[in-house]
Formats: sequence, structure tokens, C-alpha cells
Amino acid sequence: MTTSFGSLREIHKKRKECRICRSTNLIKFLELGETPLANSFLKSKDEFQSELSFPLDVYFCQQCSLVQLLDVIHPEVLFRNYIYVTGTSETIARHNQEYSRTVVNTLKMDSHDLVIEIASNDGSLLTCFKELGVKTLGIEPAINIAEIARSRGIETVTEFFNHQTARNIKATYGTAKAVIANNVLAHVDETRDFMSGCKELISPEGMVIVEVPYLRDFLERLEYDTVYHEHLCYFSVTTLMRLCESVGLSLVKIEHKPVHGGSLRMYAGHQENYPKHGEAVLKMVAEERQAGLTNIDRYHKFARDVQHTKTLLLQLLDELKSQGKSIAGYGAPAKGNTLLNYCGISTQYLDFTVDKNPMKVGLFTPGTHIPVLPVSELLERQPDYVLILAWNFAEEIMRQQQEYQARGGKFIIPIPTPTVV
Ligand SMILES: [Zn+2]
Repeated sequence: MTTSFGSLREIHKKRKECRICRSTNLIKFLELGETPLANSFLKSKDEFQSELSFPLDVYFCQQCSLVQLLDVIHPEVLFRNYIYVTGTSETIARHNQEYSRTVVNTLKMDSHDLVIEIASNDGSLLTCFKELGVKTLGIEPAINIAEIARSRGIETVTEFFNHQTARNIKATYGTAKAVIANNVLAHVDETRDFMSGCKELISPEGMVIVEVPYLRDFLERLEYDTVYHEHLCYFSVTTLMRLCESVGLSLVKIEHKPVHGGSLRMYAGHQENYPKHGEAVLKMVAEERQAGLTNIDRYHKFARDVQHTKTLLLQLLDELKSQGKSIAGYGAPAKGNTLLNYCGISTQYLDFTVDKNPMKVGLFTPGTHIPVLPVSELLERQPDYVLILAWNFAEEIMRQQQEYQARGGKFIIPIPTPTVV
């Protein structure tokens, strides 16, 4: 292993080689600057001085085309008390119901079958599976969040997932018909070890079902703010296929989903059962090559476009401030913190931001030190403009804030091109 940590004091490490193919032929194409950890909200002003920052640079592997960060922060620091709780959004709740029905139908699961979810968070998704009559097991490293899942009746193992954890779980619980990992693979440093752990846990006819943000949407919609230290890999169908091959899995099926600004949902099975990748998968791989995803030039263009959208956003905010307008934020997501830090948007522009998650209310945003207030403050203070930092929930937010709009309030959606709504 190239990035094992000796002690907790060793918080930051720099990786030398690609997570899929081990090549050292890696090109840096995007520098977002020294940035604090996107989920390290601060409790009080006393903490501002001692805040730590780390490089936020994105690399392209010339050998296998994997887009990745090489600066690795110790997972204990990143995830032990992770604040994100999946249960807080209506959009996600609907997605979970649709997801569990699709998986149960596709794999023809019944009450004898087990579904294991890695990074099961507060058990929101597994609860949907349980309601459909399937056996469930969660694996979740954040102790405080695993406790919420248990209180909802979802058995949960409190561990970081890797191949060794997988062997232990298999010895106790047996294999599963489905092993699900949603929005976690991209956060893992040892990508191949994680994927071979998933393979270990599935029965001969079982499937590994993984959902990751889609690199193509990231590039085309300029979603640079989804770069933060937790988010280590940015996958295409091409690189998922190479990853599956490297651990003896075949990429059977892939779906492109709108959730989280564009995601891929992949189904992989044992190579013994599925000797070939799916035909539709190979077609998407060919389309990605056509779109330039395997060529560094596409990434240099992306970096230029990111710089341009930052300039446009700052011009808009400067203009509004010069007119004496007040501006607040909506949401305090990880991605919002990348955007705020990269653009240099602090309390000189935003008086405050609001968030529905009560665990974030009362804290300050990392790096930019903007106070996070409850959503009710939007109507209390009625700022002239609201910059939507949680843009993947923009429609839901604007629907819920019709009163704010009716009183003359306006929204700004920051990417891909800053737009006033
Ligand atoms: Zn590579």
C-alpha cells in the first residue's frame, strides 16, 4: 500500500501512483488552491486561527484516464464525525424508494436474500429494502450516524470497509445477493482493495451495485465545486470498466442517473458468470473516447472554463454589492465550501447561509467563516439575493421558498454559468 498512515498525527499524505493502474504518469490539470476540509465546520471564532488547509489539485492518469486527487487526508479525520445525514432531503428520499424497488426487481430478491450496504449512513436506503421484505446489513464508520441507523432497526457494523473487513463480514453473515456502495467508492483511497472487498461479499450470482458521480457531467456542467478532499476519484464508464477488470469483475450494466448533478449506477458480477462486459457498456466507452474523456486536452479546456465561470460569478456579486444589495447563501454542503474558497467568497459578499440540517446550524463555514443559520432566517431577514450553494437541490429549494420569492427575493445559481432566477 502506498498511502497507509502511521499515526493520527500524519494527517496528510501525497500519493505517487494511480489508484487503478499504478502508473506514475499523472498530469495535474486543475489547481483549486490551499483549501480547508470541506466538512470541517467551525464551532466558534476561536477556531478560525488554527484552521488547517491542504492542496486541492486534480490529476489525470495518462495510462488509464482516471481523474483523481493525490493529496490524501486521513479517513479518521475526514469521516469519523461526518455531518452529512442522507435523510434530510426529499429528493434523496424519493431516489431511495425508486432505487430499492429497482434492485429488488432486477435481482429478483426475496426474504431469503441479504443486501449489504457499504457506507450505509443513517440507514435511509436500507429501511426501504427492509420494507420490501429483504434482509439488510449496514456498514458505516461514523459512530454517531451508525447509532441513528440502529435506532431505526437496521443492523450496522461500525467499520471502515476494505477487503479484510469484507472477509470478516462474510465469515459472520455469509454472502449477499447485492452489495451496494452509493457515493463512497469515489471517497476511497485504496480503490482496488475496496472493489475486491465488494467482490468477496457477493454470492456467485450476486451483483456489486455502485453509484458514483459521472465525470462526463462533471466536465460538461463545470461541476468543479464537487472537488473536495473527500472526493478522491472522478469516474467515467471507461475507468469503472478498467477497475472491474482489475479485480475479476465484469461491468454488466450501467445507468446514467440525474441525482447529485449526474451519476452512474453500475452493476458488476463475477467474471466466471459474466465473461464479457455488457454491450451497452462498451458503447458508452466508445462515446467517451469520442467526447475526449481519454485525452488530456479535454481537461485543460475544463480548467480554463472553471477560471472563466469564477470571473463571471465574482463580477455578478461585485455588481450587486455596488448596488447596495444584500446577499445570503442557501445550503452549507461540502461543494459549497469548495466554491466559496476557490472564488474567495466570504462575509464581504454573503452575510450568512442557511441549512436544513440542524447539525450544521450555529457553525461557521470552513475557510470563509460564514455563519450557518436555520432556513427560517431567510424570511426573517429577507436578503435581496440568495446564492444557491446546494445547486443539485435548486428546484426543491425554490419550490419551498416561494414566499421568499413572492416578497421580491431572487436566487443565483452559480454553475455552469452564474444565473439570476
Ligand atoms: Zn491509471
